[in-house]
Amino acid sequence: MKQYDLVIVGAGPAGMAAAGAATEQGLTVALLDEQAAPGGQIYRAISAPAPRDEGILGADYYHGRSLLAPFKAARVDYIPSATVWEITQEREVRFSAGGRARTLQARRILLATGAQERPVPFPGWQLPGVMSCGAAQIMLKTSGLTPPTPLVLAGSGPLLLLIALQLHRAGVEIAAVLDTTPRDNYLKASRHLGGALRGWKMLLKGLGYLAQLKRSDVPCLSRVSGLKAEADDGKLARVRFTHKGREQSLAATSLLVHQGVVPNVQLSRAIGINHRWDEQQLCWRPGTDSWGETDIEGIFIAGDGAGIGGAVAAEQAGRLAAWQISCQLGRMAPGERDRQAAPVRRALAPIMAIRPFLDVLYQPAGEFLTPADDTLVCRCEEVTAGDIRRYARMGCTGPNQTKAFSRVGMGPCQGRMCGLTVAQIIADTRQTSPAEVGYYRIRSPIKPLLLKELTSLDNSDHQ
Ligand SMILES: Cc1cc2nc3c(=O)[nH]c(=O)nc-3n(C[C@H](O)[C@H](O)[C@H](O)COP(=O)(O)OP(=O)(O)OC[C@H]3O[C@@H](n4cnc5c(N)ncnc54)[C@H](O)[C@@H]3O)c2cc1C
Repeated sequence: MKQYDLVIVGAGPAGMAAAGAATEQGLTVALLDEQAAPGGQIYRAISAPAPRDEGILGADYYHGRSLLAPFKAARVDYIPSATVWEITQEREVRFSAGGRARTLQARRILLATGAQERPVPFPGWQLPGVMSCGAAQIMLKTSGLTPPTPLVLAGSGPLLLLIALQLHRAGVEIAAVLDTTPRDNYLKASRHLGGALRGWKMLLKGLGYLAQLKRSDVPCLSRVSGLKAEADDGKLARVRFTHKGREQSLAATSLLVHQGVVPNVQLSRAIGINHRWDEQQLCWRPGTDSWGETDIEGIFIAGDGAGIGGAVAAEQAGRLAAWQISCQLGRMAPGERDRQAAPVRRALAPIMAIRPFLDVLYQPAGEFLTPADDTLVCRCEEVTAGDIRRYARMGCTGPNQTKAFSRVGMGPCQGRMCGLTVAQIIADTRQTSPAEVGYYRIRSPIKPLLLKELTSLDNSDHQ
């Protein structure tokens, strides 16, 4: 079994920056990512030639090139198209690549597995033609493809506006951007205005996206509620919603939805790391110290996987983790670690100061957190919100009990698309908090694994 000082999972800004910082200190590093090229979510396909005009994706996207060059120059064993499906507390990393499974042994592990879009359950979200904004952005970044029109975007948060703007710049006609941010959120968020002002640059960026959309005559409707996708012949045909007390409908071939991003916690949960419910981000996040180390010795998390902070914060968190790991492995003196970390922590402060404001402002409306009874919650096993409420009233105290009644969360996505909603519905029905209700017990393999891959694990790996 090949051994490394550090194995990193995820080649986004956190993973790439950490790999560079760790190799500079002389660590042997392997970096695994299930994508075919480095970049993560924000800088996806950054190493490929721009599919179209660079103005479409914008300057923040091309900032990724500043990470790519040092990453390529670093002595990192980079293994692309590699899906990590198990990590043990003994720091063995098992993954599949090219149809074969292998194990690496690491002295330290850094999870830089980023975020996923928050699942957005509402009536009709499973229809062909409805997808997440992030999925549309992936098509744009990797292939220059855009969704068929008429196109409607609906949801909340800066990424919704950014993706609408990118599609508009790519020449797509947008029928409407429906902002579902509840009116009350503005009042609740205003309590965190002090922090928001410290991060005023990001605030201006978000306002800039909206101003650009409006200047381009893209119809942007705010305080939209009652979102529904309706079909003709089994495919999306129209979007219904309420705006200013009036029910409206728009013809649509594509509907892109978005309600923010949440940490991708499948691996951290499967390892057994402690997680806590974040009341502002309304999601679970793993506990880490200020260097990113978790309660399991030698296992670190950096970037959005440890709590949503955005790409620049992810990059800096990756470096902090790499320096602490270098220090623990005797390659960096504590004084040097702290000297390098000080300006990074200063740069992080305003970026993190704006988070409480953004997190509260963009909390999803109740209709998406605890959807109506007939809405599908678990798309893999076809379980509705009403089913989950019924199980909670029958006495299920948490998501693991509801599995036994319905197989909810036991399909191929392993709860990624329903876990948060199931916890919220049970908590709401039992009048408690998701922190009390808990989450699915996640077990490896955390991604679908072929039997032939499993049997290809070299027995010598275990000697
Ligand atoms: C779909 C999507 C689109 C986004 N677009 C933008 C944007 O345009 N602008 C913006 O500012 N922010 C965007 N974000 C937010 C953005 O993800 C981050 O702030 C930033 O990319 C976080 O960096 P990271 O290094 O923590 O993780 P990421 O950049 O998310 O990188 C994580 C990497 O881990 C890999 N990975 C995860 N699990 C495994 C596994 N089991 N095995 C192997 N590899 C694994 C993934 O393939 C990915 O490459 C987006 C988020 C999502 C979910």
